[in-house]
Amino acid sequence: MLRPFTLHRPETAEEACALLAGLGEDAAAYAGGTELLLLMKLGLLRPRHLVDVKRIGGFGDIADGPRLTIGAAVTHRAVERSALVRARCSLVGAVARHVANVRVRNVGTVGGNLAFADPHSDLATLFLTLDAAVELVSPRGRRELPLAEFVRGPWETARVADELLASIRLTPWPGETAAAYVKFGVHERPTLAVAAALRVAGAHGAGHGRGDRIVDARIAVGCVGPRPTRAAAAEARLTDVSITDVEEAARAASDVAAASVDPADDLYGSADYKREMVAVFVRRALRIAAARARGAEPSERFPHAVVA
Ligand SMILES: Cc1cc2nc3c(=O)[nH]c(=O)nc-3n(C[C@H](O)[C@H](O)[C@H](O)COP(=O)(O)OP(=O)(O)OC[C@H]3O[C@@H](n4cnc5c(N)ncnc54)[C@H](O)[C@@H]3O)c2cc1C
Repeated sequence: MLRPFTLHRPETAEEACALLAGLGEDAAAYAGGTELLLLMKLGLLRPRHLVDVKRIGGFGDIADGPRLTIGAAVTHRAVERSALVRARCSLVGAVARHVANVRVRNVGTVGGNLAFADPHSDLATLFLTLDAAVELVSPRGRRELPLAEFVRGPWETARVADELLASIRLTPWPGETAAAYVKFGVHERPTLAVAAALRVAGAHGAGHGRGDRIVDARIAVGCVGPRPTRAAAAEARLTDVSITDVEEAARAASDVAAASVDPADDLYGSADYKREMVAVFVRRALRIAAARARGAEPSERFPHAVVA
C-alpha cells in the first residue's frame, strides 16, 4: 500500500532542484512513476515528498541540432512517434516501440529509465553507440557527462541528490551507417541486448577509394553485466573489413565481445549461459547490420528475440 506523500509540481528546474536540496532524503524525483511507485508500494522506498519533473520547461521536448536532444520527461511512446527521432536516428524510435509494454511506454520516460539505471535497460545500451551524454541540472548549474560515466552500476548513477537529469543528447550516426538492435528475453525485461552500428566507406559516396570497407564499428552489450558497455576490442576486429565478406570477422568479434562482458549468475541465467548468448547475439546483430548496409532486410527471426 502507498503511504501518504506530498506531490510538488514545479515548473522550472531551479524550483525543482531547490525542493530536492531542501527536502533531502525525504524527497524523490517523480516522472512516469513506473519504477518509483512500484518500489513505494512494496515499501522499499518511503519518500514523503515527490517532485514531479513533467511540468518543467524543456524536460518534455525533443530538439534538433548537431546532436538530438531528448528531454528527460519524454515518454517512450513520444520517442516512438517522433518524426524528428525517425529522421535523425530511426533505430531509436524502433527500439522505443519494444520497450516494456504499452502501459509502461505511455507514461515511462527516457530520463526515468536512465536515472533508475536498471541494468536491463534498452536505452542505456543503444545510446552508448550514439555517443550519448546526459545533461544534469542542480542549484550549482548544469553539467554534461558521457552516459558511460553516468551509469555506474546496477541502480547506481553519478547523479547527486539535488541534481535532476534534464536531457539526453545523442550524436546521430552519419548517413552511411547501418545498424541493428537485437534483444532477447523470456522475462518482462530483456535478458540480453546488443546494439551494432557499421559505417561503411563508399556508401552514399563517402568512401574516397576505400570501397566497401567498414570504417567505424560500434557494438554495445547490455543487460548481462552490472552496466551496459561498448565492446571496444570486438569493434576493432571489424575495422577495414569488407561489408560483403563480414562473416568471419563477425564471428571473431562476437567471441571477443563475449569474453569482455562481466556477467553474474541470477534469475536471468548463469554467467556461462549469458556469455554464450552474447556471442550468439552479437554475431546475429552484426549480420543484420551488415545485410542492411548492403541494402537487404534479413527476414530471419529468433525465438524470444526482438529485432529493431
Ligand atoms: C513491467 C516493466 C517492463 C519493463 N521493460 C523494460 C524494457 O523492456 N526495456 C527497458 O529499457 N526498460 C524497461 N522497463 C523500465 C521502464 O523503461 C522504466 O520503468 C521507465 O522508463 C522509467 O521511467 P519513469 O518515468 O516511469 O520513472 P520513475 O518511476 O518516475 O522514476 C524512476 C527513478 O528515476 C528517478 N527519476 C525520474 N526522473 C528523473 C529525472 N528527470 N532526474 C533524476 N531522477 C529521475 C526517480 O526518482 C526514480 O528513482 C520496464 C518497466 C516495467 C515496470
